[in-house]
Amino acid sequence: MKHMKIFTFLITLCLISFSVTAQKAKSKNKKVVQKYGCSSEVPVAKMVIEDTTPGRGLADNYYLWDNGKIIYVKFLSGSKSMQDKVKTIAKEWEKYANIKFHFVEVGPSHIRINLDDKGGHNSVIGSMAVSVPQDERTMNFDTTDFKTYAAMYRTVLHEFGHAIGLLHEHYSPISGIHWNKTAVYNELKQTQGWTKEMVDVNLFQQYNINYTNGTKYDPRSIMHYPVFARWTTDGYNVNWNNQLSSGDIELISLLYPKNSERQNEVPRFTVSDFTNIKVTNNDAQQGISIYPSFNISTAGKSARVYFIAFFYDAEGNPIMKEGGSYNINKMTATFKSSVLGVNKKLSANKLQPNDFELFIPYSELPVAKGKNNFQVEFRVYLLDDKELKILYQSRRSVFNFIKS
Ligand SMILES: [Zn+2]
Repeated sequence: MKHMKIFTFLITLCLISFSVTAQKAKSKNKKVVQKYGCSSEVPVAKMVIEDTTPGRGLADNYYLWDNGKIIYVKFLSGSKSMQDKVKTIAKEWEKYANIKFHFVEVGPSHIRINLDDKGGHNSVIGSMAVSVPQDERTMNFDTTDFKTYAAMYRTVLHEFGHAIGLLHEHYSPISGIHWNKTAVYNELKQTQGWTKEMVDVNLFQQYNINYTNGTKYDPRSIMHYPVFARWTTDGYNVNWNNQLSSGDIELISLLYPKNSERQNEVPRFTVSDFTNIKVTNNDAQQGISIYPSFNISTAGKSARVYFIAFFYDAEGNPIMKEGGSYNINKMTATFKSSVLGVNKKLSANKLQPNDFELFIPYSELPVAKGKNNFQVEFRVYLLDDKELKILYQSRRSVFNFIKS
């Protein structure tokens, strides 16, 4: 069993789960507090590569649904009248994208919407939704923000944009936004309690050229956050965009074409039905065996996948290989890797127990005689060319054992 450092690329992992409330541009000294933008809810693994090629409208092609997909959508809460409005607005995307939102009241669903008076607005990106357990939401709307139909309209369009794979337009590498970063850090620290890192993730991260699909940077995109003039060094600003722009329509028509095959297909793999990680220690083999239970489906193109178990101490701190600062490359982990073809459906530890094992020897961990406490986290990544995409990240399982 191999257990070695596999990441030769620097990656950043960000769990984006913040709801942003910021001051809307002040008019006539009247301070209007309104929820600002939204945030996606999936961990994003982003390659940091040097690439200054002009970028364009942004979508995460790796998390697109199959072209022509009928996407099942279910409400977990909300009044009938509010739900009906959401349905009507979401269907605006169907005019331009070859997908259908099929609203169901029972049974399994791809998208599950929580519609109440808290939690901000957010959505899982595209097909990552299938990795979310069926009893959990994949999208949230905060109806306190729906004071006007316009606010509701733009918000629903925006979140459903995420749900079919679109990213924030201000992540475009050619947005040309000259951020006054200090001003943004200060304001969001003051108003939201945000750390510098949170601001970086939500506002300043940039995707590379691989995420472009032939459209230009589009400040009118429904996927663009408002940008306040006080946040830029040159007074540049972007207002609330209230409807799909021509750029949005162009992009989504390209990603989900109605009369042709999708161009620029990439590997689109999904992990679903994760139930648990069984962890056992094995004194005979002087190590620990990990048996995660999940299904994986492949589409688009073949690609290499990595199935990795990461180890944390009893307090939940990552166990680092060489000490030092937090860096995924230095986290103690063990993995298996293989290249998977398209249109496969594979199961691990579902059809037969223990048919998929990850193993780490005691020598790789700070195992001591007597009681040992660890936490184990399972992740699945896809590696395509230079892109490393996260497909799944489990909750951590606590593992205790006595070593004689
Ligand atoms: Zn958003």
